[in-house]
Amino acid sequence: TTQTETHRFQAEVQQVLHLVTHSLYSNKDVFLRELVSNAADACDKLRFEALQDATLYGDQPELAIDITWDKDARTLTLRDSGIGMSRDELIGNLGTIARSGTRKFIEALSAQQKADAQLIGQFGVGFYSAFVVADKVVVESRRAGTDEAWRWTSSGEGEFALEPADTVARGTTVTLHLKDGEDEYLDGWRLRELVRRYSDHIGFPIRMPKEKWGNDEHASDEAKAEDVSELEAVNQASALWTRPKAELSDADYQAFYKHISHDFNEALAWTHNRVEGNQNFTSLVYLPSKAPFDFQYNRDERRGLKLYVKRVFIMDAAEQMLPAYLRFVHGVLDSDDLPLNVSRELLQGNRQLDKLKSALVKRTLDLLDRVARDEADKYEGFWREFGNVLKEGLAEDHGNRERIAKLLRFASTRSEKADDLTSLDAYVERMQAGQKAIYFLTADGWNAARNSPQLEALRARGIEVLLLHERIDDWAIGHLHEYASKPLRHVGKGDLDLGDLDSPQDKEKREADAKAAAPLVEAVKGLLGDRVKDVRVSTRLTDSPACLVLEEYDVSLHLQQLLRAAGQ
Ligand code: ADP
Ligand code: MG
Repeated sequence: TTQTETHRFQAEVQQVLHLVTHSLYSNKDVFLRELVSNAADACDKLRFEALQDATLYGDQPELAIDITWDKDARTLTLRDSGIGMSRDELIGNLGTIARSGTRKFIEALSAQQKADAQLIGQFGVGFYSAFVVADKVVVESRRAGTDEAWRWTSSGEGEFALEPADTVARGTTVTLHLKDGEDEYLDGWRLRELVRRYSDHIGFPIRMPKEKWGNDEHASDEAKAEDVSELEAVNQASALWTRPKAELSDADYQAFYKHISHDFNEALAWTHNRVEGNQNFTSLVYLPSKAPFDFQYNRDERRGLKLYVKRVFIMDAAEQMLPAYLRFVHGVLDSDDLPLNVSRELLQGNRQLDKLKSALVKRTLDLLDRVARDEADKYEGFWREFGNVLKEGLAEDHGNRERIAKLLRFASTRSEKADDLTSLDAYVERMQAGQKAIYFLTADGWNAARNSPQLEALRARGIEVLLLHERIDDWAIGHLHEYASKPLRHVGKGDLDLGDLDSPQDKEKREADAKAAAPLVEAVKGLLGDRVKDVRVSTRLTDSPACLVLEEYDVSLHLQQLLRAAGQ
């Protein structure tokens, strides 16, 4: 009698599996990165849990990842001495997908003609990528602190089998039965190359059988067997951020970025700093070049920042460590001062943490400044992906408002193109002699903005107006009252005081016009009655006969529409 149970995969897993195996083919090497990454996570978890309970190590204190293969059986095996999985964890972790954006992800993928590897990469398919190269995967695991071992087996088609296994060493062994044609993953040189490329920075030794020159063809069977039992580390095995910058290449940083972010795209830029003094910590902050597909859905699920204490991984702590408007950031913070037993609760009211937080914000804003200044094209790319998120900072982070404002980019009347953007600094530099304010208009879409009659008077005087046409602009800009000591003025609100931009002749003419129009104004007031607050002769218009304006502190028309649409 066998104790084998059969379980069906959750429907989402089946769909993800199908999509992954059919579209990840051109990126199939990625499976190795994902499996090594899981093994490293498992070692991190054990080290963390063992802070509370050192007996979890048992008689096996070493944390390592071993990669071996068997050419005859055509199997590739990764084993780690990490935390391992219990029976329930095997079912939960390798049979379901807990992430909240999963349904959206599947919809987005299925809607495309050809499933897109980029999209899959952004989602981070992880373990399931094993089925890109294997037609059968066997996972044997023993959770630290227990003596039960379990074997999970699947061919990635709807179901997996679960059965007790003979007691194995602590941790997890993943064995891939390679598909026909995937023999490149049975080649030591090829595997080494992949490990070095993808996983050099992993903080645990990744070991492989020693290669001996010419051993394959000519060595006796005995010699071969000996070789396999002798393992050597093939990676640096020191966490990347602990290494001196001078030793690290761009490729090293990019590989590490992909490890922590699960992003297939390259990082846009990064900053790596060690601070010593009152507080000692290392930070490594990355800007992505592309927003993940589920970025807007997952406003609350922020996984971008990994907190370490003295090289020990503690937790994903983006919510505690980064303000929401920087939620696109990926990175690592490694503190020498926080207690190793720090918990989420402890993080809440920790004064040291506030300093770390502001240091991280400062580093990130410095990095954005640098990219904006030195690599305008890159910055434009960043702005397209994340500009609307950064704008939230005007409301969220008053202390850094001016710095954030410096990073904003807007369309303006100076250009006929919607995507020709300007910074506030560049606007201020172009301001006319006598112009006191920074003028802007909010509207629903760029076309509506640039065709607004409210622009006429300013156009006629050659004054540039910023065209704010994103949904968030109205609300965000409301938190920025001035920039570079210049007030910001909505051209559709209050009296449009053009100050010194009007000549004395202009003023005289206006007064005469107002007098002449007085009877008309009275007549219009009579007609509109309570529906308007006031009727005035305006300097705003040159071609249109009339327009609606708001009092200086009224909620703008555009925002009123939005609120109404939201049922407010
Ligand atoms: P992710 O790593 O993003 O959570 P994966 O699909 O790569 O997603 O893995 C799913 C889960 O399976 C992991 O979160 C982890 O709990 C578990 N897991 C995978 N591989 C291992 C391993 N080698 N040791 C322990 N747990 C693992
Ligand atoms: Mg993973």
